[in-house]
Amino acid sequence: MKILYMGNSFKYETEAVLKLFFPLERFEFAFDEAPLYDTDCAVIALGEELSVEVCLNGTRVRKASPLKGGDNELELCRMLFSALSGITGIVPDWGCLTGIRPVKKINALLAKGLSYEEIAGHLGEKYFLRENKALLSYRTALTQKNALDTLSPKSYSLYVGIPFCTTRCSYCSFVSHTISSKGARELIPRYVEMLCREIADTGSIMRNSGRVLDTVYIGGGTPTAISAHQLDAVMSAIERHFDLSSMREYSVEAGRADTIDRDKLSVIKNHGATRISINPQSLNDEVLKNIGRAHTAGEFMEAFALARSMGFDNINTDTIAGLPGDDYDSFCATIEGLIALSPENITVHTLTVKRSASLFAGASREDFARDGDVSRMVDGAGSRLLKAGYSPYYLYRQKNTIGNLENTGFCKPGRESLYNIYIMEECQDIIACGAGGSTKLTDPETGKITRYFNYKYPYEYISRYDKMVEYKKLLVDSE
Ligand code: SF4
Repeated sequence: MKILYMGNSFKYETEAVLKLFFPLERFEFAFDEAPLYDTDCAVIALGEELSVEVCLNGTRVRKASPLKGGDNELELCRMLFSALSGITGIVPDWGCLTGIRPVKKINALLAKGLSYEEIAGHLGEKYFLRENKALLSYRTALTQKNALDTLSPKSYSLYVGIPFCTTRCSYCSFVSHTISSKGARELIPRYVEMLCREIADTGSIMRNSGRVLDTVYIGGGTPTAISAHQLDAVMSAIERHFDLSSMREYSVEAGRADTIDRDKLSVIKNHGATRISINPQSLNDEVLKNIGRAHTAGEFMEAFALARSMGFDNINTDTIAGLPGDDYDSFCATIEGLIALSPENITVHTLTVKRSASLFAGASREDFARDGDVSRMVDGAGSRLLKAGYSPYYLYRQKNTIGNLENTGFCKPGRESLYNIYIMEECQDIIACGAGGSTKLTDPETGKITRYFNYKYPYEYISRYDKMVEYKKLLVDSE
C-alpha cells in the first residue's frame, strides 16, 4: 500500500494508525508526489485544509477538516482512523490512541483533578477511545497509586537479562537463543562469567552514585534455562555487589515449566527472591503444542505446586490471548484454571503479530484477523479476574497486537509488582545488566529520559564488554 504525504511529513504517528488496520503490511512512503488512485493508497495532505483520502480495493473515502494549528498531526490521525475504520469495518477499542503507556495519560489527568467521567469523555472525544478501555486504564491507575506514592526519588531498579530458552516459541520475536543448539549451549558459561563481571562493575558504579536499590528483576529469555549452578553464580554476584538492605522486591522470571526443578527453585529462594513467574501462556495442551512450548498444562501445574510447596507466596502467571488454536471458551477456561490456583498475579497479554516470529512467516492479516474473538477473550478474562478479586495494576500496549489490544497485569490486593509499575510508568531509573538490557535514566529536573542499550546478542556482548561498561559508567556519572 502506498502512503503519500502532501505538504507534511507526519509519518511516525500516521504509520502507527495504519498499522492498527494492516499490521503485516509493508507500506511504501512518498512525499509530495502526484497521487495515483488506481492502486491501494492513502493520501495525507496539509494545505489550505487537512485532508485524508484512502483507496482500498476500489473503494475511495475522503475526509477533510479546517487546519488545527499545533494539533494538525492529531487531526490527520483522527481522519485517517475514521477513513480506515469506515472502509475496513474495523473499530479498534483503543481508537487512534497509539502510545504504549495509556495509564500515564490517565495519571496526568487525575493529577489535574479530573473525575473518571471527565477523563473517559475527554479521551473518547480526542482519540475515539471506547468506554471499556477508559475504565480499565482508570482502574489500573487507581491500583498503582500506592506504589507510585511510595516511590523514593533516589531509588533505582536493577534488571538482569539471561537471553536463553530451551526451545523457541513460534510467536517469539525476542533475541533469545535456544539451548538446544550446540553454539548457544557453548556460549552460556562465558556469558554467565561476563554477566557476573558486569554485575560487579555495575555494582561499583552504583555504589558511588548516591542511589538506593529498590527492586531487582531477573528476566529473559528464560533465566531458569541455565543450570542451577549458573543461576546461583548470577544471584550470588548480585548479592555480593549490590546493597540489598533497602530492596522491596526481587523477581525472577522462572518462565517455562520445562526449565523449573527443585534445585533451581532452591537457588532462587535461598538468594531471597520475593516473587517468581511461572508462565503457562495457555492451559490448553493443543494450543501449547501449536506454539512450540515444550511443556504441557499438567507440567505447569506440577511446577506451580512445587513452587508453592517450597514457600513461594508471590507467583505471577502469564497468559496470551489470540494464540493459534485457541478460542473464547478455551481462553476463558485457562483464566478460570489459573484463578482456581490462586496466584498473586495473572497477566493477560495479547498476541503480537511480528514478521520475525516463525508463526507469522508468510501469513497475511486475514490469517490473524479474529480481532473480535480476541477482544472478547481479553474482556472475558478481565471480567472473570475482577469478579475473583483481582485488580489491573499495570498495563501497556505494543505495536501490532491483534486488534490493537493491550497487555494487563492483574493482582490480588496489595500484591502489585513494583518493578512492572515503575518500568511502565517510566518513573524510576532502571540499570540493566546482560545482553539486550536497556538502562534508562530520568533527569529529575527536566524529566528527560536517557537510554543506553547493551549489545543485543550474547557473542557481541561478550566480545565488546569493556567498551560497553565504560560508556555505562560515563552515563550514570553524568546524571
Ligand atoms: S519463553 Fe519467551 S523468550 Fe523464550 S522463546 Fe518463548 S516467548 Fe521467546
